[in-house]
Amino acid sequence: MTAHVVRPMANRDSQFFWDGTAVGELRIARCNACGALRFPPGPACQSCDAYDRGHVVAAGTGTVFSYVVHRHPPVPGKELPIVIALIDLDEGVRMVGEVVDVAPTASDSGGIEIGTRLRVDFHRVDDELTLPVWRRLDEGERA
Ligand SMILES: [Zn+2]
Repeated sequence: MTAHVVRPMANRDSQFFWDGTAVGELRIARCNACGALRFPPGPACQSCDAYDRGHVVAAGTGTVFSYVVHRHPPVPGKELPIVIALIDLDEGVRMVGEVVDVAPTASDSGGIEIGTRLRVDFHRVDDELTLPVWRRLDEGERA
């Protein structure tokens, strides 16, 4: 049986992001006119209204701003529970991501809390889709 996953919509505003994950890059939209970073991406810069879009490649590290442990309803292709976090990237933008390997149980959320440091990893689903996932940054890596 093929695993079914929820496929993110790629459009002209977000294609650069999925092109990035496919090559192991976490890309953040950047305005070429004023340099403002933004996530989620959109057609016009929120700072200066320019339509001159580029992107930067994020370092791939961030901090948990908040999170939820999703136990119900079922998510196609996922074994519940899963942890979904709002992650403040070190570049200063916030994005939503799944945190893996934190093993939430019925009574707690596993090894995640607000302020937990994370590092992005890339889960290749198939030729067309690679999803960013997040793991705890080990103590030894924090320096
Ligand atoms: Zn701008």
